[in-house]
Amino acid sequence: MSRFAIGIPLLVVLILLIASPTYAAGGACALDDPIQHSHLSDPASPQHHGHQMDMPSAATQKCDPKFSYDAGQQGPSQWEGVCNSGQMQAPVDIQTAEKLSLAPMVFGYQPSDFAILNDCNHYQLKVKFPNNYWLRIGKKPYFLTEINFHEPGENAVKGQRPVMSLHLVHLSPESTFLVIEVPVIVGKENPVIKALWEHIPEAGKQQQMEGLKLNAADLLPADRGYYRFPGSLTNPLCNEGVTWFLMKKPIEMSEAQIAEYKKYYHNTARPLQPLNNRPVAEPK
Ligand SMILES: [Zn+2]
Repeated sequence: MSRFAIGIPLLVVLILLIASPTYAAGGACALDDPIQHSHLSDPASPQHHGHQMDMPSAATQKCDPKFSYDAGQQGPSQWEGVCNSGQMQAPVDIQTAEKLSLAPMVFGYQPSDFAILNDCNHYQLKVKFPNNYWLRIGKKPYFLTEINFHEPGENAVKGQRPVMSLHLVHLSPESTFLVIEVPVIVGKENPVIKALWEHIPEAGKQQQMEGLKLNAADLLPADRGYYRFPGSLTNPLCNEGVTWFLMKKPIEMSEAQIAEYKKYYHNTARPLQPLNNRPVAEPK
């Protein structure tokens, strides 16, 4: 066999490995370094369905952050991947936006089973998504993989960050990321958040919710106006090629609910990144 003939099957294997659907279809915590999750059992995956929390192994898992938002050895300036070399990083501060005819976002979120992962860096709310295509932008479908939280919110408008925010992370069939950031302001108690906060597992653990459904539509503002820009994931490895939609209108959470979140995590927003002349658009 020539070297070429050996090279082709090797290439095919490599492509299959790289294109393995496990990452996308498993919803493997899109905003995280996948490595970070490999040490956590995943009760949301079919092979671990149910009852994971009863197993002794779950009790021995320890919370072991791989990066930090605080300055230091694991701080943002030390983050790996393209975090400190990329030119299209997020979050950003939006000063102006160009009004364009943009394809509408069509939400088809449905009540769904979900699990909550407390992963040391975020609250990870993993929504189970049996092949959902709940979001459509023009003709392009996306599925919702997870919702996570930041305090304060990450993307800013005219220098102002919201007190908190939610990231609704989506993937296209080609595994490109689309993240919707929903700002949070202090206001009324949020009934959906109330239900979620009652089920936060210990750090480093994940809990599959039994008999509880979550409709992510209940976590969207009624007004669907947004800013759109190209960016990156906001924690390592900060992969670029992410389409961001920052909702203009916030949802409300009570002061007590925000305080409850801060008992676990505080200052979970990456420093703002330079826009570098990226286009920011808003619908006409
Ligand atoms: Zn996030």
